[in-house]
Amino acid sequence: MKRVLILGGTQEAYELAERLVDVAGLEIISSLAGRTRAPRLPKGRVRSGGFGGTDGLARYLRDESIAYLINATHPFADQISAHAVAAASMAEVPLLRLLRPVWEPQAEDRWIAARDTAEAAELCRREGGRILLTVGSGELEAFAGIRNAHFVVRMVDVPDIVPLHDYSTIAARGPFSLADEQALLTEQHVNLLVAKNSGGDATYAKIEAARRLGLPVVMIDRPQIALEPRSLVVASVEDAATWLHRSD
Ligand code: NAP
Repeated sequence: MKRVLILGGTQEAYELAERLVDVAGLEIISSLAGRTRAPRLPKGRVRSGGFGGTDGLARYLRDESIAYLINATHPFADQISAHAVAAASMAEVPLLRLLRPVWEPQAEDRWIAARDTAEAAELCRREGGRILLTVGSGELEAFAGIRNAHFVVRMVDVPDIVPLHDYSTIAARGPFSLADEQALLTEQHVNLLVAKNSGGDATYAKIEAARRLGLPVVMIDRPQIALEPRSLVVASVEDAATWLHRSD
């Protein structure tokens, strides 16, 4: 049995685990950060919670005799991704990054690029009005000082304390349909959308809805994560499964 550790918390990590769990000769362990109240659990072993930094992850790789490490975390999960690169190198475990391609702007999109949440917040301050904010709870703080906007905040788990001046919340987990996203933007009288360039299909409908309604989108760029020269990156669950098959 060869053990595969999938760093997850994404739709594709879930799909990859479900796909590999019945492959003879492989044992799949999915790892979740443990932040979501009711996470969708894939088949196979699931562990939850941080490893304790790079050293902790490297120790886990050795102690659990992990043969392959697949980092299928979210494109904005920069810390665990950096830890994966360093820990895989320390423990001499082959590492694959499964990373969704970025969304590219279409001709009619009205995107305003932001390097990070701080820059996105500055753009919101300039624009004001009613803003659909689709960032994580840990990123709300950047928008705390804004007084000229009402934020419609959508996230999987709404935190007990929302550090915003004027807001309403929607607790929801994707995927979202185009019709629902258009209805949401229209009914909430949204004049600006803030999104992270997550890529993938599950949350793309809001971008298409904004395009159809002619609304601007503050699009937050992905953080840069240094990869080692030997790190391999694939864009699909299919390609990740092929990599594993070929490596075995
Ligand atoms: P992060 O900033 O890169 O990681 C912060 C810490 O959380 C890491 O140092 C690690 O703790 C722990 N951690 C993160 N992912 C883990 C995993 N899959 N298994 C075990 N520990 C993990 O991550 P984040 O952006 O907060 O995201 C946390 C989780 O939510 C990730 O699994 C990610 O795939 C998922 N997610 C993130 C976003 C997003 O926008 N960032 C969106 C959707 C889903 P230790 O240092 O103690 O090991």
